[in-house]
Amino acid sequence: MNKPSPATTQDAVTMDKIVALCKRRGFVFPSSEIYGGVGSTYDFGHYGALLKANVKSEWWRAMLSERDDIVAIDSAILQHPRVWEASGHLAGFTDPLVDCRACGQRFRADDLAQVPCGRKPSLHPGDSDECSLTEARDFNLMFETTIGPVKESGATAYLRPETAQGIFINFKNVLQFSRQKPPFGIAQIGKSFRNEITPGNFIFRTREFEQMEMEFFVPPHEAERWFEHWLGERVRWYVELGIRPDHLRLRAHDPDELSHYSSATSDVEYLFPIGWSELEGIANRGDFDLSRHAEYSGEKLEYFDQGSGERYVPHVIEPAAGVDRAVLAFLVDAYDEEVVSGTAEGAGELRTLLRLHPRLAPVKAAVLPLLKREGQPELAREVYVKVRERVQAEYDDGGSIGKRYRRQDEIGTPFCVTIDHQSTDDETVTVRERDTLAQERVPIAEVAALIEERVSAPWSTPKLMS
Ligand code: ATP
Repeated sequence: MNKPSPATTQDAVTMDKIVALCKRRGFVFPSSEIYGGVGSTYDFGHYGALLKANVKSEWWRAMLSERDDIVAIDSAILQHPRVWEASGHLAGFTDPLVDCRACGQRFRADDLAQVPCGRKPSLHPGDSDECSLTEARDFNLMFETTIGPVKESGATAYLRPETAQGIFINFKNVLQFSRQKPPFGIAQIGKSFRNEITPGNFIFRTREFEQMEMEFFVPPHEAERWFEHWLGERVRWYVELGIRPDHLRLRAHDPDELSHYSSATSDVEYLFPIGWSELEGIANRGDFDLSRHAEYSGEKLEYFDQGSGERYVPHVIEPAAGVDRAVLAFLVDAYDEEVVSGTAEGAGELRTLLRLHPRLAPVKAAVLPLLKREGQPELAREVYVKVRERVQAEYDDGGSIGKRYRRQDEIGTPFCVTIDHQSTDDETVTVRERDTLAQERVPIAEVAALIEERVSAPWSTPKLMS
């Protein structure tokens, strides 16, 4: 095996580079671009959609396949308006908003020191004498809509601002049909909507996003233990999927940051190019949610333990993560630039690559004929059909081999299978490894199985070693 040792440069990532790569390679586009765009809304292209699907499937794997105490749910986005009264969102899901009478811009009152004003010489809103900020007023982040054909006589409804409430309102259904009892969890992935005052930083904060939330219902006296359990599990999930542990931390909320119902909350934070920021929140929510829905709906939402004769309202531990934010963290952590060393193809050149965990990579293998003649494309197509039966694969015969490798590096494809003149003679191909640039000759009959096996093998990022 030919194994050059690539010289990895310092962490070269910036948010601008991620945005540019996502656009260049079709991961993420600004939404409604042909109409001039709509603020902070994004569409995911082919590779972005595949990456997102892989993140979600890894979350499902951790919730459902690797344990047997969690069940899935997929609840509606539109729910009874009383849900949001009971949850407290109608009264309290607000951010403090200030307007500037001079420039007409709006800001979050608690964000003034960080956001730019856009009006020189004022750096931040309120800095200059010309700024004229209003008093802060509460702005509810829920999007309102109307159920029914006539706006005036229809019922007001809200696009859900979190997926969690769809779980709580189904607690009784699930308890009845899932043959689970506390401690057990209900997990959901789905879209949520928040009319954020200051969305931004690419897909970090948008008005429409996806969440992965799990509500774990436990006997009250076990709540603390399960809270600790989920802190550990959730950090482990990110690390096993390749995030560098030194770019990940748990930050416990200060008492004045805690929601009134939460006895403890910790955020999993990632060191984004914008600084340490929340990736996921893990909260000990006590019995607040079930008790409130019981109060507002009149239904009993409790558990009767036939063994002990005990009746109680379970307490809830909630790990709540964002799909889009996780995608951004995986992209940022994977982004790398290096000068290719040794005798590898492209030696001396700078290559950009995504060192994504193979399980997350949108495409696992690209099948590339070296030349567009001598029977190579035909043989490559045959190999491609075999490989794509097992893993997400791509066939590419356009442009120079170097250009095709660069493209696969940039979308994070862990393996390139190259068909050359020797392949048509002896039924072997080369497998090029993204991270090390090592090339290995493999019989065609074995290549699909080999790639499938390597994609599911444990992996850690070479960026750790640099
Ligand atoms: P933040 O403090 O960043 O506004 P939050 O504490 O309000 O987030 P939660 O209500 O705990 O967020 O939601 C759980 C997760 O959902 C967050 O950790 C984040 O990953 C994701 N999330 C929340 N709001 C957004 C948003 N506007 N855009 C993208 N992801 C979001």
